[in-house]
Amino acid sequence: MIDEPIYPQANTVEDFERTLAAVRRRIADACHRVGRDSVEVRLLPVSKTVDEGRIRLAFAAGCRWLGENKVQEAHRKWKAMTDLQDLRWSVIGHLQANKVKLVARFADEFQALDSLHVAEMLDRRLQAEGRALDVFVQVNTSGEATKYGLHPNDVQAFIWQLPAFNSLRVRGLMTLARLSPEAERVRQCFVLLHNLRNRLRQEAPSCVSMDELSMGMSSDFEIAIEEGATVVRIGQAIFGARALPDSYYWPTQKTEPEFPK
Ligand SMILES: *Cc1c(COP(=O)(O)O)cnc(C)c1O
Repeated sequence: MIDEPIYPQANTVEDFERTLAAVRRRIADACHRVGRDSVEVRLLPVSKTVDEGRIRLAFAAGCRWLGENKVQEAHRKWKAMTDLQDLRWSVIGHLQANKVKLVARFADEFQALDSLHVAEMLDRRLQAEGRALDVFVQVNTSGEATKYGLHPNDVQAFIWQLPAFNSLRVRGLMTLARLSPEAERVRQCFVLLHNLRNRLRQEAPSCVSMDELSMGMSSDFEIAIEEGATVVRIGQAIFGARALPDSYYWPTQKTEPEFPK
C-alpha cells in the first residue's frame, strides 16, 4: 500500500533546499534499487497554485524547471518572472485550442499532446513566433474515462502524423497513473507506458524520438523510476500540500472533446 503522506509547506529557501534534497535522495535510492544512474531522471518541480514569492524561493534553492498544468496561470507567472533568466516552463496539463497561442509564446515544453488539431495549431503559432517546442504525447494508461491522453492503441498512428509539424520536437510519452493506494495497480500504468515506448521505438518515424518517459508524481514517483521514468513531475513533496483537492485539476467529469477525434 502507498502511505498517505503529509507534505509540509516550504516557506523559506532553506525549506526548499531541504525538500529538494530529500526528493533527490529518494530519486537516487529508487534508481539504485533497479541499477539505474540518477542522471537519467530529470526532476520537474510542479508549481501549480504556488505564488510568485514562493516560486522565487524555490528558484533560489536551485529549481530551474517548473511544471504548470493551467496555461493562463503559467503564462502569468512566466511574465512576472522573466528576470529569472534560466528558468524554464513546462506545460503539463490539457491544452484547449484557444490557449495554444499562449503556450507557443512562452513554454519550453508541452507534455500533454493528444490531439492532431492542437498539434497543427501549435505548429502554426510556433512558426509565427520563430520558436520550437519539445513535446510529449500523453497516453491514458489507466483506462479511466476522466483522464486525458490517447488510448494506447492509437499512439502509433498518431506519432506518424507528427513529422508534418516542423516546430514540434517529439521527445517521448507522458502519463498520469491511476490514483490508487494499491501500488501494483499504479505500477501497471507505468509498465504499460514503458512497454508501449519500447514497441514504438522500433516503429517510429526517424525524426520522432521516443527516449523520454514522463511518469510519476509525489505519491508514486519511486515506482515510476523503478519502471523506467526519465522525467518525474513533483509538486507537493517539494512545495507542500495544495489547498485545493486534486479533483480541481483532474475533473471527475471530463469536459466534451472540443474537436472530433
Ligand atoms: C499536479 C500534477 C503533478 C504533480 O502532482 P503532486 O501530487 O503535486 O506531485 C504531476 N503531473 C500533473 C499532470 C499534474 O497536474
